[in-house]
Amino acid sequence: MSPSSDVEAKRMSYPVDLNQGTVSGAGAPVAASSADQNVIEQAPETSHSDNAVEQALAATQAPPATIAAPEAPNIQWQEFRIKSGDTLSSLFKKAGFNDGVMLSVIHGEGEADKLQRLYAGEDIRFGLNDEGDLVAIELQRSRLESLKIEKTESGYTGETEVREPEIRPAFAAGAIDGSLYLAAREAGMDDRLTMELAGIFGWDIDFVYDVRKGDRFEVVYEQLYIDGEEFSTGRILSAKFTNRGEENIALLYTDSNGESDYYTPEGQSMRKAFLRVPINARVSSPFNLQRRHPVLDIVRPHEGTDYAAPPGTPIKAAGNGRVKFAGWKGGYGRTVVLQHGDNISTLYAHMSRLGKGIKNGTRVKQGQTIGHVGSSGMVTGPHLHYEFRVNGVAKNSRTIKLPDAQPIPKSEMARFKRVTSQSLAQLNVFLESQNQLALATDN
Ligand SMILES: [Zn+2]
Repeated sequence: MSPSSDVEAKRMSYPVDLNQGTVSGAGAPVAASSADQNVIEQAPETSHSDNAVEQALAATQAPPATIAAPEAPNIQWQEFRIKSGDTLSSLFKKAGFNDGVMLSVIHGEGEADKLQRLYAGEDIRFGLNDEGDLVAIELQRSRLESLKIEKTESGYTGETEVREPEIRPAFAAGAIDGSLYLAAREAGMDDRLTMELAGIFGWDIDFVYDVRKGDRFEVVYEQLYIDGEEFSTGRILSAKFTNRGEENIALLYTDSNGESDYYTPEGQSMRKAFLRVPINARVSSPFNLQRRHPVLDIVRPHEGTDYAAPPGTPIKAAGNGRVKFAGWKGGYGRTVVLQHGDNISTLYAHMSRLGKGIKNGTRVKQGQTIGHVGSSGMVTGPHLHYEFRVNGVAKNSRTIKLPDAQPIPKSEMARFKRVTSQSLAQLNVFLESQNQLALATDN
């Protein structure tokens, strides 16, 4: 028997009382200690909330409240959708039970006390036997998680049940006309999946600047099912992005240590490496968020690392990226800012001059000269001031863990090839069937 599928099925035919939400007069006081905990807060995330409205609509048109569960004909169930403002006490009251019963439930064995943590959007149902005694309570937290409490001879006892979704590969493909997001949405991908896709290829392709009309993407991803019904998406398993005629393929691989990441079919990481140091020079002033500024003589964080070097010394791009800024930037003087992938940027200040061809929007390769050491801006002598930012926050470039861009090691290559040849084949099967579909519709 499958109680949870039963819950899902029934939800559609239940009249969830939309008007009864907050209980007037709040009823008898809940035992002092637990009163506060019982107040409902907004749910952090409930995976069924996306169609809660549909369900509620379906529910309001449906017939009466209590129906018998088929797997246990002697139990009558009453179900309520939890709303903001509900309390455990008010829900028990709706089901016809007082605080005494509520307390004996939450003081029960196992995880019964977890019933005190309720969130709006969850469903709770009360199971009554023929004598009208409360013999079971089920709190459906999400499609996957529920708390089940049963009455035994020694009292109530609770247990959390987590269901594993069934995972099936799904395929989406599209050609870009406007933005990746529009094309992906049209292809049936949710925005989270699109973000993931952009993140995987973000080291090679700038989805704002590089994408051209006619660029294509093909994605195999996990579609998650519960009771045969799709309810969410999982990971991207493989993807192909054709940018200006150039094909990029990424394959998800979980190595023998259990670490998952995306690689090219040749075993190169989709992430790109960084140079730890963008110049051959000694550190003259380290990263220090408490530093006293040498010119202003006030405590001002030093959000970068200084490298002393003779004027004209070449400064290298720490990683592949795009020039986000090139020009004069206040006290920084002549400055270049590079954007790498989604969330990393590097800054190079006090240059005497910019590198050849370096201007806003230029694509740069790791190690390429982007400028030369100077003493422009607010400085006491020629040096490079170098910043490394993650999501805009300054980090110590000398100690930060840089993106792991290691290729698949030789020792793991045979395993990698064996595993990824399967996901490549899977991607190709989808591509093939898509081409045949296109041919069929052409005729
Ligand atoms: Zn500095």
